[in-house]
Amino acid sequence: MGYIILIVVLAVLILAVGGTMLLRPRGTRGVRRGRAGGDLGSGTGTGTITRPDADTDTAGTETAQAPPVPRPAGTPAPPEPPVVEKPPPSAGRMMRLRARLARSQTGFGAALLGLLSRDRLDDDTWDEIEEVLITADVGVTPARQIVSELRTRVKVEGTRTPEEVRAMLRAELLAQVETTASRALRTQRHEGRPAVILVVGVNGTGKTTTVGKLARSLVGDGDTVVLGAADTFRAAAVDQLQTWGDRVGAQTVRSDKEGADPASVAFEAVSQGIESEADVVLIDTAGRLHTKTGLMDELGKVKRVIEKRTSVDEVLLVLDATTGQNGLRQARVFAEVVDVSGIVLTKLDGTAKGGIVIAVQRELEVPVKLVGLGEGPDDLAPFDAETFVDAILGD
Ligand code: GDP
Repeated sequence: MGYIILIVVLAVLILAVGGTMLLRPRGTRGVRRGRAGGDLGSGTGTGTITRPDADTDTAGTETAQAPPVPRPAGTPAPPEPPVVEKPPPSAGRMMRLRARLARSQTGFGAALLGLLSRDRLDDDTWDEIEEVLITADVGVTPARQIVSELRTRVKVEGTRTPEEVRAMLRAELLAQVETTASRALRTQRHEGRPAVILVVGVNGTGKTTTVGKLARSLVGDGDTVVLGAADTFRAAAVDQLQTWGDRVGAQTVRSDKEGADPASVAFEAVSQGIESEADVVLIDTAGRLHTKTGLMDELGKVKRVIEKRTSVDEVLLVLDATTGQNGLRQARVFAEVVDVSGIVLTKLDGTAKGGIVIAVQRELEVPVKLVGLGEGPDDLAPFDAETFVDAILGD
């Protein structure tokens, strides 16, 4: 009798467990990458950083392929997984955005062409040309150099048809804008590790937006990207970056503690990039220009900590083109504390002072690699000198 009771109890237990397993919906856990909050577990050692894919439960989970589970009537529909966009590749962007550039810059080009086309080019006219260049933020020394070279050309070439004037000015501006340094971003994986790009700059210059746009453009070019939200002093910046990442399926490594150590977020982002075999890790840093020593300590530490895992391949300095000389001063401070390898000039759509491209390259001896030409998600373009000069001249 005792045996029979035992067998019945065991049979009931087996049925209950089996039934529960059958009813459990498949693939409902851990498929949202890089979500804010601690819902996906930390496993980081710091206890505050969310490393989305470190959640072992997510391994191999494929919600998209699971057959639909019938939903009892009256239960609300589960939230839709975020729609991952497929951004366009970066090639030809500057050409596409050229009209926007021309709209903001032709005033400066037209003024120069008008002055150079005068019948008589006396000293006053040359002074006016210099003034136009300085007003466009070209910088005093380059402006003088451009004027002196144009004067020589005019003397040598004599008569000037409108086409000749334009060609002469085009050649001169191009000579000023072109550099021997490569404008290509170093985004190739090396030694089995992702490329690491550190993005620095003062708050408000468009740094976080640039990191987001760049992530889109890299994804558009076929790369996998991990974002590190190391601007931990602004919760809004962290959320903003996460949103950019979610839109293109890039993981965002973040800390939910405001003021958390930026270096530890950067370290975790790079570690995550190495583990997930990403192509590029993009790190957004804090842009508080409190004191030079403070900045140096902060950025220096971020860089040193990353270098425990791999090298930093690019340090991009984001500069707001509308801030002119003030922006240049900021650029100088950053260049003193960290080895800047490229400049991103943002908001070039919002200023007639495109001459800043010439001034900043000269000042820092670093090429402008990217330009921001609007607030739209794909309004970041690899810089191209000819397209830029042609836009100034209204070609
Ligand atoms: P951060 O504080 O440096 O991280 O700056 P944000 O990324 O938050 O950007 C500050 C503002 O600049 C935002 O309103 C951006 O939309 C805007 N912005 C960034 N890049 C550009 C650009 O190329 N053109 C224009 N017109 N606005 C931009």
